[in-house]
Amino acid sequence: MRPTPRLRVVSAVVLAAVVLASALLTGCARPTATVAPEAGPSHERSHSARSAKGPTHAAQPYRRWGLTAPLPAPPSPPARRLRLPDADPLPVVHRVPTRDKVVFLTYDDGAEKDPRFVDLVRELRLPVSMFLTDSVVGPGYGHFARLRSVGASIQNHTLDHAALRGLPYTGQRAEICGQQNKLRARFGIRPRLFRPPYGTYDTTTLRAARDCGITAVTLWRAAMEADGELTYAHGPAHLRPGDIISVPSGEPTGRSLRDRTTRLLRDIQGRGLTVARLEDYI
Ligand SMILES: [Zn+2]
Repeated sequence: MRPTPRLRVVSAVVLAAVVLASALLTGCARPTATVAPEAGPSHERSHSARSAKGPTHAAQPYRRWGLTAPLPAPPSPPARRLRLPDADPLPVVHRVPTRDKVVFLTYDDGAEKDPRFVDLVRELRLPVSMFLTDSVVGPGYGHFARLRSVGASIQNHTLDHAALRGLPYTGQRAEICGQQNKLRARFGIRPRLFRPPYGTYDTTTLRAARDCGITAVTLWRAAMEADGELTYAHGPAHLRPGDIISVPSGEPTGRSLRDRTTRLLRDIQGRGLTVARLEDYI
């Protein structure tokens, strides 16, 4: 049966509505974001919580993230960045030589892209450093632009997460300078810090990193495992001032970065420490 003119108009309106609705859905979707399934404040929920409970609740975001006390603001950073031990051609830093009661949160690779982690960083004003690998971030740089807009800094963790030790200079340089170029194109920045994948490097790495504009190779003393436990590369098995903490992302069976971070923050608070910005010190 041929549709009457009136039916044709109705069909056209319905079709237009469907097209419009799908366009809106596409526009709202965040294809690069991986939303972890665990409960936690979403953008929407945090807005409604704020409007429902008023400014008191908004002033205490730490409660929403499972902390019993606010994270103290770090002390004023040193007037000049700390002088690192002389090393030719580059210093390699495992921990920061400071007596300030601070530790430094660094995140590796860039696999997990949970929008609620952005909420966490924003609401707790966490000065985190993200060491990004291009092949792991993939098309997800938008997530890290959002993190950067709420205060995270972006540093270099190679193009392709190659184990650099033993590779020829040209290969190492391509991994490091290549990622410098990607980050400059994406964010207009020139990272100063470089973390070699797996923490393995040799003197060629140091030379290549220097030639790519890096001023310090940044390792860690404490590393968080997928289950949320900390392991220590050397020294006492607890957090102490100046520790750099490495938090890898992307273990599919592990806890979310958000969960691991809030757990870490409770540990940090339990030691009477707080989080400072690594780039203020080195
Ligand atoms: Zn890595």
